[in-house]
Amino acid sequence: MANYLKRPNGTEDVTPERIHKWHTVERVTREVAQSFGFSEIRVPTFESTELFQRSVGETTDVVQKEMYSVIARETQYTLRPEGTAGTIRAMLQNGMLAEALPQKVFYQLSCFRHERPQAGRLREFHQFGVEMAGAASPYADAEVILLGKTVLDRVGLRDVVLNLNSIGCPKCRAKYQEALRAYFEPHKEQLCPTCQERLVRNPMRLLDCKSPEDREIAKDAPVILEYLCEECAEHFEAVKSALTAMGVEFVINPKIVRGLDYYTKTVFEFITTSIGAQGTVCAGGRYDGLIEQLGGQQVPALGFGMGLERLILTMEAQGCEFMEPARCEVYLAPMEAAGTQKAMQLAAALRDMGVRAEFDLVGRPFKSQMKYANKLGAKYLLVLGSDELEKGAGRLKNMDSGEQKPVRLDTAENITADFTEISLADQFGG
Ligand code: ATP
Ligand code: MG
Repeated sequence: MANYLKRPNGTEDVTPERIHKWHTVERVTREVAQSFGFSEIRVPTFESTELFQRSVGETTDVVQKEMYSVIARETQYTLRPEGTAGTIRAMLQNGMLAEALPQKVFYQLSCFRHERPQAGRLREFHQFGVEMAGAASPYADAEVILLGKTVLDRVGLRDVVLNLNSIGCPKCRAKYQEALRAYFEPHKEQLCPTCQERLVRNPMRLLDCKSPEDREIAKDAPVILEYLCEECAEHFEAVKSALTAMGVEFVINPKIVRGLDYYTKTVFEFITTSIGAQGTVCAGGRYDGLIEQLGGQQVPALGFGMGLERLILTMEAQGCEFMEPARCEVYLAPMEAAGTQKAMQLAAALRDMGVRAEFDLVGRPFKSQMKYANKLGAKYLLVLGSDELEKGAGRLKNMDSGEQKPVRLDTAENITADFTEISLADQFGG
């Protein structure tokens, strides 16, 4: 096959056969976010490269190795590798932080990272994410974590463990970074080249390295929890007790430092063992310094990103249920070609009532139309024989039971009178 006919490595097609799985997670995440009072925000697919360098951080894998950047007419842009930077940029640019706080937004968007593609790790992937700006309370941390957990519960996941940690604030981190330097310095020569540089610039990033050799070296590294200042330690205790009060189970995992530089205090990951190595379905935390770092006021904020491909993979692995695929409800089958126009008119009237109606568009003989309707999974077949049509009637066949009955065609309501299982949709619902 010619190369231009192949999708780029690390990207996916979602064919109609699978789309109901996406509709399921899109719907559940939207409904849960809205039930927590979060409103949807949509931001551009690309932003200036500098926005990500300044927020995600110069020493992170994302900025050092994974960004898709282009120079277009002398300006450097990057396809968003995550949703937080663009969302905070939009909050600043649209004056949202001058409104009543907290501002609470959610998004469903595509992200781009140049990674080695494997199951659950793509170059274009999708995130559901939430951001809350202007809330310093530990209850805000618990609320955001609870939102993530509610989504995972609502889609039916089991065996997802909430891993919780605090990485403190710049105050506690200064001492901790020193301790890390002292620990790693003797192993310097064995570290990967990126980490040798990190040792100088940002030793905490070493704990996030994916190389097995570096991980082995990092095994006994000092843990941040022992270096928290009083305020950070108190905050962490309060988050834990709010979660406990809500019946949310968690484990403390001091290894979680997150791949992006802007985090402070609480960080967390929801991890599953059902899909192999890429088991983090949802990850986030607090980033109290980010907004100021980008040139805004000091506004505390927090959020998470949930990988929707990983969520769907986990649901599949655990046998969770998805929404029913949308399928044809009534197939209109004229016995002779002359009945096609009538079929088209009736289909239009049925659709106005919210019924999914189709008819033959390729000139199939009647028998093949029935077979085709069967293949579509149509619930009803409306047979339009020429003699009956002249009398304004047809025959409605229930495809499951095989039962048939005559119906009058003067109104669409006559046709749908006995429908079961078909919910007539509101104008915009379904
Ligand atoms: P990882 O450690 O797996 O590389 P990360 O720390 O880079 O994850 P985040 O930047 O926190 O991930 O992104 C939030 C979530 O987005 C992840 O927990 C995961 O579910 C999803 N995600 C991140 N990168 C990818 C990817 N390349 N393909 C698919 N999903 C991804
Ligand atoms: Mg990553």
